[in-house]
Amino acid sequence: MYGNNEVCYPSTLILGDIINTLQSGNYDVKDIVLAITQTGGQCRATNYLAQIKSGLQNAGFRDIPVIALSSGGSYQNDESEFKLEWQKVVKIAIDLVLYSDNLQQMHSAISVREKKTGASLDVFNFYIERGIDAVRANSPKTLRRLMKEAVADFNNVLIHDRNYTKVGLIGEIFLKYNNYAQANITEWLRSKEVEVSCPPLLDFLLQFFVNNKENIKNGLDEESIMGKALKPLIWNLINRKIRKYEKIMSGFKFFEPSESIFAKAESASEVLSLSNQFGEGWLIAGEIAHYARKGVNKVVCIQPFGCIANHIIAKGVEKRLKTLYANMNILYLDIDGGIAEVNLQNRLHFMIS
Ligand code: SF4
Repeated sequence: MYGNNEVCYPSTLILGDIINTLQSGNYDVKDIVLAITQTGGQCRATNYLAQIKSGLQNAGFRDIPVIALSSGGSYQNDESEFKLEWQKVVKIAIDLVLYSDNLQQMHSAISVREKKTGASLDVFNFYIERGIDAVRANSPKTLRRLMKEAVADFNNVLIHDRNYTKVGLIGEIFLKYNNYAQANITEWLRSKEVEVSCPPLLDFLLQFFVNNKENIKNGLDEESIMGKALKPLIWNLINRKIRKYEKIMSGFKFFEPSESIFAKAESASEVLSLSNQFGEGWLIAGEIAHYARKGVNKVVCIQPFGCIANHIIAKGVEKRLKTLYANMNILYLDIDGGIAEVNLQNRLHFMIS
């Protein structure tokens, strides 16, 4: 109603969420600044800012400033006086991603096995709330302490001792993690006693290191002296934190160690050029290879309507993937606002049975 409905489905959903919130009457609209993450890229991801601004104007919220939340200089808003001090938040930002990825991993493994419905979700929600407090206090140490407690609490949830089919859920980032946007297929799969494994958010962010290296190699980017000095420092900082969290997570009964983003990139490079960086880019092929190595031979790849990027680097590489991983069963699902859930579910039925 307020946006251009020829853009991709996630962009429409996000604009809708924002306008819904502003129209709810719960906020003083004179006292609001809207911030949207901007990772940029070769698809509509670069245009969320413009789509939101235009949507707000159409909905009568002309005076609300919209700013880009971005780590680089390219997507900053000229009108903005809001500068995020990355030096102050970088540590907690890395911990936050690791903390939430690990909560997600534990919840995925436990919720499907739990004896009492909702027990795992209760633990998950409790630690999300506690995590928010720790982030507000800018305390990575508190997040790590909470992580230890979460491991113990998830381990204590009473579970059935059975074998569960595991399915990898990959695809467009918003659909992958948002229940509403993905028409609740994660919950539906769980209700059929299927363990749903979703790749960590961290990998989406770490692909920057691969992309940057690839782009410099191909002459698409230049290496600044600053960048050359900073990148190894940030890479080491992130990896030190990953090791800290893995040490804590090793106490979880279904713990699975992560795989380096460069290992995923190497497998992906057997399928397509790493210059494919639009949407989820080469990460989709890398994630399918990762699941194949782990013995997970069923993967659902969800794509939003209007996402040309994911059609090219997901469906477009199916033949090559099937040649490399003959046992891999890949189900591509297109998701849009008007889709009948039953059409998704009956295709999922075929896959799991
Ligand atoms: S990857 Fe697809 S869904 Fe995501 S912003 Fe780009 S075009 Fe839209």
